[in-house]
Amino acid sequence: MTIAANLKDIRQQIEAACRRCGRDSRDVRLVAVSKKKPAAAIEAAFMAGQKLFGESYVQEFCDKQEQIDQPLEWHFIGGLQSNKVKYLRGRTALIHSVDRLSLAREISRQWQKIGQRADILLQFNLGREASKSGADENQALELARAVSELPGLQIRGLMTLPPWDEEPERVRPYFRRLRELAGEIEAAGLPDVRMEELSMGMSHDFEVAIEEGATLIRVGTAIFGARD
Ligand SMILES: *Cc1c(COP(=O)(O)O)cnc(C)c1O
Repeated sequence: MTIAANLKDIRQQIEAACRRCGRDSRDVRLVAVSKKKPAAAIEAAFMAGQKLFGESYVQEFCDKQEQIDQPLEWHFIGGLQSNKVKYLRGRTALIHSVDRLSLAREISRQWQKIGQRADILLQFNLGREASKSGADENQALELARAVSELPGLQIRGLMTLPPWDEEPERVRPYFRRLRELAGEIEAAGLPDVRMEELSMGMSHDFEVAIEEGATLIRVGTAIFGARD
């Protein structure tokens, strides 16, 4: 299957999932996860109408972005070390993976240097897996409050990467929990905190994520094929 054909299929699946749960498909954006794929694959997806891409590795992202002239929207979705934030400065529209105050502080500092506001999501490790980044949900309000006090930064929503399970139904409780957590944070009424985005769902479980309220689904393999 070509990238264009894969994208067409996925868009149809998104439409169908939205119809099943009575959502407007314009409220679900597809983030094409192009990590470990060459710039040519990104351009092929762009030619098929895809404008939003997600990358996970800072160096790889910067290299590829420089090779591409098209006006793409880039999101950063991977684990992020504070000392690499400066390389992302001004290049990404949204960082999905903010899981600690020190990282948010560095993003705030770097984006202020260019006089721009950084949009971020707070990432939670709802399965409490040692192998995954993400904050503990017990610290959600404390983290949201502290991050909200930083200048030049806006929390736009939440992100999660749940424990792997080949059966999407078993992942549903994590998606549901992320939505509840967004509600709890929203209820605190913090300044510069808007729970507009729920980033959840990948190639094999995005339909369930949509049913649970995802507004950003991060899909790699189903668009670009397996990564090596
Ligand atoms: C790689 C990655 C994805 C995409 O996963 P696929 O299973 O290939 O769709 C989504 N989210 C994050 C955070 C990733 O690192």
